[in-house]
Amino acid sequence: MKNISQFRSYFPEIETLYNNKPLVYLDTAASALKPKTIIEAANDFSLKKYSNISRGISHLSANATELYEESRQKVLKFVTGQTGENKLLITSGATASLNMAASYYYNKLSFQDEILLSLAEHHSNILPWIELSKKTGAKIKWIDVNDNGEIELPFVAEKITSKTRVVSLTHISNITGSITPVKDIARLVHKVGADFVLDAAQSVGHIGVDFLDIDCDMAAFSAHKVYGPTGLGFLYCKNEIIENFPNFFVGGGTVDDIVLPPAIFSDSDLSINSKNKDKSDCRSYDFKLIYKSDLARLEAGTPPISQLITFGLVIDLLNNIGLKNIEIHEKYLTESLLDLQKIDGIEILGPKKINNRIGVVSFVSQNIHPHDLGQFLDDLGIVCRVGHNCAIPIHKRFAVSSSTRFSLGLYNNKNDVEQAINGVKEAQKFFLLG
Ligand code: PLP
Repeated sequence: MKNISQFRSYFPEIETLYNNKPLVYLDTAASALKPKTIIEAANDFSLKKYSNISRGISHLSANATELYEESRQKVLKFVTGQTGENKLLITSGATASLNMAASYYYNKLSFQDEILLSLAEHHSNILPWIELSKKTGAKIKWIDVNDNGEIELPFVAEKITSKTRVVSLTHISNITGSITPVKDIARLVHKVGADFVLDAAQSVGHIGVDFLDIDCDMAAFSAHKVYGPTGLGFLYCKNEIIENFPNFFVGGGTVDDIVLPPAIFSDSDLSINSKNKDKSDCRSYDFKLIYKSDLARLEAGTPPISQLITFGLVIDLLNNIGLKNIEIHEKYLTESLLDLQKIDGIEILGPKKINNRIGVVSFVSQNIHPHDLGQFLDDLGIVCRVGHNCAIPIHKRFAVSSSTRFSLGLYNNKNDVEQAINGVKEAQKFFLLG
């Protein structure tokens, strides 16, 4: 097994001081720190080899296109174990991907249909489906979680019916760190002929993920939570989904031809003739759009080129470290972090034991409001996240309005965890005595 601690120095932000104290970064679930060597290598592309892709015949454009597509394949292999065409759409982030996933159903659902979500979902996996429900009349049904916030197979079985058309669930909760039994759920969902959409924003980069093995129909995740750049995300889709995706986000790069109505061109003049205004007015059915037959049909406009090339290098680094090693390291630290529950007045929201969970640990204090606690910890150089963290339903399920969250990345060490636990203990003393 690789010693993960050697990779801590790849992340220079961890060496910065705040209030003369070393940074303890425990906010990876919001966004991960970035590895310096990768950013530098990627800068080389931006400064010396940059060009738009796909639309030029220049050597620069050809080279950038090759690097870009190579990176797409690296990412695809990272999450499916395979390379291939027409499976991984590039988006601006998990939120965009989930909106896109919901848009697939705009012309496919009606008021008789049902969409299943769980109470453990991030708002980015709730709101797009509620908007879909408003547009189509389809009903949203909520899958409950147990008292530890876990989605259990029987809870899904209880809600699924022949009317279910799509079930969209988080792979790992951004509040409880609990891992959903997605493979069993996918089987159940497919039994009734519905689709299974996976929100993998918190799983990719932390546990081994294989969308083919899970057998999900679509899966969404962001690069910035996996040590990569912001403004880049992915929507993995099965081939039949890609083929049936409506043309909802269109523009440059998506068509091979536009057949214009003959009326646009007057008899003798090839320009739009202002005297022949009537002739130049067209309805949509007068046009014939010949869309591309591959993924390009769904990726309008200039994509996040340097971001994807950078992320390809991040994937190389993660492969070099080994995801299994990352998983073991984070599990080891999570076990220590769960000692938070030994502090008087602290309650963990989520599984209390290490099984079926990762290092996203949210908790509430009987005595301190999360915002006060977050401020206190920040003064100690401990960066965490407080509030409802874009997951109001699960907070309501736990009968609290907000929480404090520590979340781990591959750069964290035992000292970070000890600092965090001591910080909470100090806060308890300060606020109780204060
Ligand atoms: N889904 C989950 C489970 C998340 O934790 C997040 C972000 O925290 C998202 C979706 C949205 O990701 P992004 O903000 O990168 O679009």
